[in-house]
Amino acid sequence: MTKINTWDMHCHTIFSDGTHTPTQLIHEAKEQGLAGVALTDHDTWSGWEEAEVAAHAEQFLLIRGSEITAKQRNDDKKPTSVHLLAWLYNPQGKKLNDLFQRTRQNRLNRAITIVNKLSHYYPIDWESVTNEIKEGDSTTVGRPHIADALIKAGIYHTRTEAFKGALSKDGPFYIPVHSPTVEEVIEAIKDAQGVVAIAHGGSLERNTQLLTDTDIQRYAECGLDGLEVWHRENSIEQQERLLQLTKHLHLLATGGSDWHGPSGKLNQLGENTTSEDVVQEIIERGYLPVIQ
Ligand code: AMP
Ligand code: ZN
Ligand code: FE
Ligand code: FE
Repeated sequence: MTKINTWDMHCHTIFSDGTHTPTQLIHEAKEQGLAGVALTDHDTWSGWEEAEVAAHAEQFLLIRGSEITAKQRNDDKKPTSVHLLAWLYNPQGKKLNDLFQRTRQNRLNRAITIVNKLSHYYPIDWESVTNEIKEGDSTTVGRPHIADALIKAGIYHTRTEAFKGALSKDGPFYIPVHSPTVEEVIEAIKDAQGVVAIAHGGSLERNTQLLTDTDIQRYAECGLDGLEVWHRENSIEQQERLLQLTKHLHLLATGGSDWHGPSGKLNQLGENTTSEDVVQEIIERGYLPVIQ
């Protein structure tokens, strides 16, 4: 796989559920020979400042972004969980900040409830989970932090094991994150003049009911800019389907690794990337400039 002139547009750090710092992300991305990288922590922009300093120091190109938790309500069926990648938006955007604040609080309440349930069966408590949250209130909390506490308690060896066990979406301890609708998120990102794509929209690991072509067309009409086609959780068939949809609906086709650090998830930095011409289009559409 050639990485020359390509960008990894989907990466997480300790400001959400990654295991490495924004500084380490920039350093890694430069070492790999990527053209640039996007920082996309869940429901926050709190890692941007550190990433900016690192990008200046390493003379490396950085796009500031986030991955935003949303859902689609389905008639009589389970909601579809949807993640939206937002890049180069104005961080002063009020709608988006209100939405981040709500989702982060909901994530925290939900994590506390999950840990309470787990504590009857596993040797963990909320304090042991907070020890795994590296940036205090600036960290967006998720199941991976609970996984880390279960690892410290000796129950599992890796986050992946914990996600297959006690933290499984299909297990008795799971609670979904209370999240805004896709339309609400797109509206907030557009209000902040950002660029928005649906992340891993073909992932059957996450949803039994994927977004349909009609759903995606509706979101394109709401202002959606792109689809993350190249992601390890999208099967080859789904990548082909999403790529065709980008052509049909005039959307941008992006790729990203969903890196969470080497000990965070198996995903390798740069394993999926976005072409330079698509990144240039994202930069033209966005409110913020690229950092170098
Ligand atoms: P949550 O948002 O709290 O429901 O947790 C989901 C997060 O955990 C996502 O960011 C995933 O990337 C991450 N995740 C899911 N499965 C795994 C796994 N097997 N190992 C590590 N992280 C995972
Ligand atoms: Zn994550
Ligand atoms: Fe995601
Ligand atoms: Fe992600």
